[in-house]
Amino acid sequence: MLSVENLHYSYGAIKALNGISFKVDEGEIVALIGANGAGKSTTLSNISGILHPQQGSIKYRGTDISKLPPHKVVEAGISLVPEGRRVFSRMTVLENLEMGAYIRKSKAEVNESIENVFTRFERLKERRNQLAGTLSGGEQQMLAIGRALMSKPKLLLMDEPSMGLAPMLVQEIFSIIKEINDSGTTILLVEQNAYMALSVAQHAYVLETGAIALSGTAEEMANNPAVKKAYLGE
Ligand code: ATP
Repeated sequence: MLSVENLHYSYGAIKALNGISFKVDEGEIVALIGANGAGKSTTLSNISGILHPQQGSIKYRGTDISKLPPHKVVEAGISLVPEGRRVFSRMTVLENLEMGAYIRKSKAEVNESIENVFTRFERLKERRNQLAGTLSGGEQQMLAIGRALMSKPKLLLMDEPSMGLAPMLVQEIFSIIKEINDSGTTILLVEQNAYMALSVAQHAYVLETGAIALSGTAEEMANNPAVKKAYLGE
């Protein structure tokens, strides 16, 4: 479904990605794990069209999308849940969701998507008219996920969805990730919480200073001594 080949990206003199390659098959959850500064967010920014690769290709269903602007990437079926949630804090929950639906054609489609999000996230429904900035961290994360789902993506990119959340909420967010995947959305999951990421993913890639250091099935990665030592705290 998604195939990234030899992706390079530098911020000026800082080489963030040094020729990474990986793929995501339809229906999967693929985890991209790695320490702070490894290049995980830069990878997602390149896929979502916020940044453009300086070398390499990003193919989505066989078409190179690496030069498309972000809204065209969303139209193609890929949406991003950004790091740190980044909801529009001075807008209501409902307005945030409507922002996520800007590519939808009719009001009926938008309403259908809103109802779908409210079915999945009842707390958002209860707080539909509340300003997003007044929601708890967990609720803001749910809103960021809900907003990304408004465009009915086939591939959802998630950047550190568990960051800064209490352990109970982390569990809840990961069960939501599984549910979204079970209902047919492919997911590329960037996480520092390797333990949780490997527990939901089928395949995983370990990114170290801009290069793929290891890859395999999630089970292989969870049992790999180097991964255990560096990322699973064993
Ligand atoms: P984190 O979890 O901290 O976001 P990450 O794995 O997502 O880490 P990136 O944010 O992609 O890593 O950063 C990769 C490298 O690029 C780091 O060395 C980082 O300092 C650098 N970098 C990221 N954004 C910029 C920027 N806007 N300008 C300059 N350097 C940047």
